[in-house]
Amino acid sequence: VIIFPDEYFELINSQTISLIVFILIVTASSWYGGLGPGIFATFLTGALNYFTLLRQDLFFHSQIGDLLITAIYLILGFFISVISEARYESELQKDKFIALVAHEIKNPLSAIKGFARLLYQGFRRSGRGKYSRYAEEIDFQSDKLLELVDDLLDVTRIEVGKFIYKDELFDFDSLVEKVVNNQKIINSDREIISSGNSQKIIKGDRYRLGQVITNLLTNAIKYSPKKSPIKVKVTCRRNRVILSVKDYGIGIPYAERKAVFNQYYRSGQSRKSGAEGLGLGLFISAQIIKDHGGKLWIKSNGVKGSIFYMEIPKA
Ligand code: ADP
Repeated sequence: VIIFPDEYFELINSQTISLIVFILIVTASSWYGGLGPGIFATFLTGALNYFTLLRQDLFFHSQIGDLLITAIYLILGFFISVISEARYESELQKDKFIALVAHEIKNPLSAIKGFARLLYQGFRRSGRGKYSRYAEEIDFQSDKLLELVDDLLDVTRIEVGKFIYKDELFDFDSLVEKVVNNQKIINSDREIISSGNSQKIIKGDRYRLGQVITNLLTNAIKYSPKKSPIKVKVTCRRNRVILSVKDYGIGIPYAERKAVFNQYYRSGQSRKSGAEGLGLGLFISAQIIKDHGGKLWIKSNGVKGSIFYMEIPKA
């Protein structure tokens, strides 16, 4: 049988849509599942294509042509699977590395913090005010480092799908009150005004939801002038509780109000403001709220202040 190149070209051309579908299926399977599912999808879609689409046209061209096209499919599928697997492996290695380093940093850091606390108490008792302030600063900075390490660990957990939540019933208003009171103690120079209540019971992870509220509050404090107040409000709409945190700070430009929820994203204004941060808090918060069936959004005119809203369903 003589096979003309033109015929092949036409054949490949007529296969464009199935080729695109094939590439999409194989890429998705290997991207999310790794090498095994990628190769399985390659065989399955390749065989399906051969027995359904290609064989139907048998009248017009040779069987060898069909086999050749199928072989091209299979080689392409293997190629995609191997590349995806390499990407998957390197991501996994990176995540493992971050988790390991973060974990190794945490232990000595906790010890430094503990000893700084002891030094602080000792210096205070013996009336050495200057040194007790130094020790307090070490304690404070260790806390900030521990928070950063925890954020990095959370991000790796999100990426490898190991973010595990407790399923407990708790009073939403008392959680908000506790977090707000904590922040009032830590930031005694700031005015934090809270109002409203929901009188609702929530089902979820109390610690993680507290982490989100803390993140919204610390951001509001971090990105607004010292003399401006922070307003926390709790309301209830049908079966959902809504918490808002309002500040009178640098604001978030309209174009960036979605991007700030991305990993490592920091707005231009915040970088200019000199406030420290890795751009992980909102990414983690958004994931936690999403996993609780809620949503997180922003209102800001990008000039003066912003309001962050958090909405979650009641139990
Ligand atoms: P971080 O504060 O550590 O940079 P976040 O993920 O908590 O990380 O916030 C991401 C970015 O969103 C911040 O860098 C900042 O640009 C912006 N942002 C968050 N909260 C506020 C706020 N209250 N006012 C202005 N910008 C904010």
